[in-house]
Amino acid sequence: MRVQQVKKDLPKDKEPVRGDREKFIPEIQVKILPSKFLSYPPNSSISYRPYIFGELIEFNESKLSEVDIIKFILKGITTSFPIMDLTYFDYMFISLLRKISSFGGNQFSFDFSCAKCGADGKHTATIDNIDFVELDVPKLPLVITIAKTELHFSPLTVGNYLKLLELKRVDKRISLYAAEVVNLEQDEAEKVIYGAIGEDQALLNYVDEMLYFGVKPMTVKCRAEKQELGDNNLMQTLRCDFENKVEIGSPEVLTRPFRTDRESLRNRVRFGVS
Ligand SMILES: [Zn+2]
Repeated sequence: MRVQQVKKDLPKDKEPVRGDREKFIPEIQVKILPSKFLSYPPNSSISYRPYIFGELIEFNESKLSEVDIIKFILKGITTSFPIMDLTYFDYMFISLLRKISSFGGNQFSFDFSCAKCGADGKHTATIDNIDFVELDVPKLPLVITIAKTELHFSPLTVGNYLKLLELKRVDKRISLYAAEVVNLEQDEAEKVIYGAIGEDQALLNYVDEMLYFGVKPMTVKCRAEKQELGDNNLMQTLRCDFENKVEIGSPEVLTRPFRTDRESLRNRVRFGVS
C-alpha cells in the first residue's frame, strides 16, 4: 500500500529525480574531451552542472581529503557509463569546466606568481583559451608483451586513481603504470612491470607517454615593470615579459568569477521594495 502511494507522488517526466533545490540548475553536455571519448563505449554522453552557491561555500569551509574532494566534484558529473570509468585527465578537464561554469559566462581569472621576477599577477582568460593535449592513439587498449605476459594499457581512470590514493600508492610510478593495466589485477601488474628489464623499460615509458593527455599549462606573460638605472644613469622602465606556464588544470589553481562586469550585477539588483 505504502509503496503505491509513494509511486503516485513521483514526478511524471523522465528526467532523473532531483532535489527541489537542484531543479533549475542547467546540465551542460560535454562535446569535446582530451580523451576524444576513446576510452568510453560508442555514443557515450557526459554532462556536468555548475556548482551551486551552497556547495562552493561548503567546499571552501571544509577541510576535505583529496579522496573526498574528488568524490565531491564527481557528484556534479553525469556519465552514461559508470562514473569511475571516467579517465583521470578527462575528470581534471571537466572539473575545470565545472568550476568556470559556476560563475556564469565563460571568462575566468586566476592568480599567479612570476617564476622569473616573483611579481604577483592576475590573469583573465576564456574557456576558448584552454588548450589540451589530445589522446593520440587509433584505438584502445594498447597491447604489449613483457616477460611473456600480455599487458593491456588504457588511460588511468578516476576510479583507479581513487584506489591508489586509498592504498597510499599514488606517488609510486610502478603503481601508476600498473593502474593503467586493464587485464590484470593491480598487484599482478605491478610485479610484471617491476621486473621489466632492458628494452622493456623503454617500452613501458613509451606506452606511458602515449597514454598521456590533458589540459596544457596556460602561457601567461608577466606584466610587471621595474625602474632601473640605464647606461646613461637615466631611470628606465623594464618590463619583465617572462612567459609563465601555469597549470590551470590542477585543483590548486582556483579560478574565480570575472569581476569587472559589476554593472550587469547592479542591473539585477532592485533597490527598495515598493
Ligand atoms: Zn615577471
